[in-house]
Amino acid sequence: MIKRISKSVTFVGLALPLVLGTVLVGGCAKETTPATQPGESIISDYPGLTPLVDFVGEENLSVLSLVGFKAADRAMEELDFEKGDSNILALTDAGYIAKIGEYTSEEALDGVMMTSGLSRGEGNLANLHQAYNQPLWFAFFDKQSKNCVYLEAKKEVLKTYLDKEKTDKNAALGDFMELKDEEIFAPIAKENIGADRLLGNPEAWQEKMVDKVFAGNEFSIFTISNLWARGLPNDFLKAAELHDHICPGLTSGYLIAKYIIKHLPTESPRKEYTMIAIPSWCKDDALIQIFETNVGHRRMYVKNLTKEQRKALPKDIRGKTANIVIRWKRGAEKGDGMLIGFDWDKAYELSGISPELRAKLRSFGTYHWWYIRLKMDVKMMDYLDNPEALVFPIKEFDVDSRAELEKLKAAGVNPLVELGIMPKS
Ligand SMILES: [Zn+2]
Repeated sequence: MIKRISKSVTFVGLALPLVLGTVLVGGCAKETTPATQPGESIISDYPGLTPLVDFVGEENLSVLSLVGFKAADRAMEELDFEKGDSNILALTDAGYIAKIGEYTSEEALDGVMMTSGLSRGEGNLANLHQAYNQPLWFAFFDKQSKNCVYLEAKKEVLKTYLDKEKTDKNAALGDFMELKDEEIFAPIAKENIGADRLLGNPEAWQEKMVDKVFAGNEFSIFTISNLWARGLPNDFLKAAELHDHICPGLTSGYLIAKYIIKHLPTESPRKEYTMIAIPSWCKDDALIQIFETNVGHRRMYVKNLTKEQRKALPKDIRGKTANIVIRWKRGAEKGDGMLIGFDWDKAYELSGISPELRAKLRSFGTYHWWYIRLKMDVKMMDYLDNPEALVFPIKEFDVDSRAELEKLKAAGVNPLVELGIMPKS
């Protein structure tokens, strides 16, 4: 069994120079560092690196790929799994787009993949979007035990070795391999994050949330991990990667996407859809991921509703308007569209969230905020193939000219007024 690759190899690496040292330099017992000589492969000291070195090529091996190796190696020991175990999910922000000072972190992905055998292709590597200056972190979740190991790289330590790598690569890599995990990562934490456990005793988990056991990434990690364990589809996982967590808002977007695919289909979403989020919420990250209707592609326009505007909406759709989707097929003389609604009242009801509990949705000082979201995340999984349970058309309409379409998107225009949904204020 390949367990604790670096530790067992360190032993071999230490033992050899000791023996050689005794013979060659007359018992110089201090000669204990397995210094890889120029021209000598690092694999001779650390055979566990073989898959990684074979994949990237020895000349491209870097401190960053070794960080991924170290994280995976520690997780394999903590969770007692072997390479390629399909019960394990790896999560990391490496390369998307966490940076260590001026250094980008994508090479860490190679270390994780080649050591743990977890990959995007296998559906067990989630690469989460976080801002460029966020810490580089790794998490590994076991869907059987529900245990999760979290490791966050120490920025300053990494930077020191990355700087050194520029001038003396062999020494930098060799010295880095000698570091203990605790010298590279903080925190290193292991917690049971099973949804049933968290929901069953939310006060206990709330203490861990306050303590930031996963350095503030708890919500991202326990939502994605638990839903992945329940069979999250690949397109949903891609939306979760962009959004950085799974919440009922993202799920509503996934359901709206499924509804659009079914009821307003098109061959070429990026070229034929115009979407207006009114108002926007987490859902829109799922829509742009699934349809490629990015803001930058000028296929998604985002409008908010003020308190007064929300009040002016007819009562039966208040708080339910989600997206206007206009389909204009190539070569067509006119387009058609739909104002889509999402039934939050029903979503809470189906998830078993009482009105009293719902009122605590934004109680960020207590467990209620994450408890409600996690409970809904789990329950709403049952409806992924049945979007009609929660998504409904508020209005279907034709768009007779390009000018009409331009007007709906334009600054200063309330498209809900244009569509006759609400009165002009
Ligand atoms: Zn969200």
